[in-house]
Amino acid sequence: TGFGVAPGASASIGSAGPQPTGCALPEMCYAYDALEPAIDRKTMEIHHGKHHAGYVRKLNAALEGHALEGSPLESVLSSIGPDDTGLRNNGGGHFNHGLSWAILSPKGQSSVPEGDLADRIDASFGSLDALKSALSAAAGSRFGSGWAWLVQDVQQPDRLFVCSTANQDNPLMTGIVDADIQGRPLLGIDVWEHAYYLNYQNRRADYVNALLDRINWSAVAEVAA
Ligand code: MN
Repeated sequence: TGFGVAPGASASIGSAGPQPTGCALPEMCYAYDALEPAIDRKTMEIHHGKHHAGYVRKLNAALEGHALEGSPLESVLSSIGPDDTGLRNNGGGHFNHGLSWAILSPKGQSSVPEGDLADRIDASFGSLDALKSALSAAAGSRFGSGWAWLVQDVQQPDRLFVCSTANQDNPLMTGIVDADIQGRPLLGIDVWEHAYYLNYQNRRADYVNALLDRINWSAVAEVAA
């Protein structure tokens, strides 16, 4: 998918191999201005180059000498509890941003859900438009900073649902988030103000709607089990 760290099961921190490389910032597979006008170049530059980089740096620091050092990122996220602040905030921050870059498409490339993903969206929401409305509502009603998610039920892979979480929490954090929103995140929308404030100021809904037109549905399908 063009990222140094894939958002799915292969995302890992450290390495089982002979040369642990630590937790790296994924390279973008498109230019910082590739999402314009939905997301402006300056926002992407700061968001990926500063915010995401900061989560990676602090995650590495939190993992140093920790029992979970070297574990895959998803295992870290499913192992931690509410008081594991460094891993919670920065492990979540790294995973969430990596996923969010991976499921957006540059301008000029649009896609629609196909195959199993399309069937699951129709079965779970009725239509793609209904899914988008649910995501808009979840993003809009999240007070303060957090994320809106499309999630796959791990026990029932055909069941998809929408939820939101605060701060950098996500549905993989089974020791932290409520049972009814646990699952595999397929698509995440960052509603922290740093994600949109330069271009949209207070207009979060406009940002979310613009982003929903830039979803790379084949990338979303690749994340699904
Ligand atoms: Mn962010």
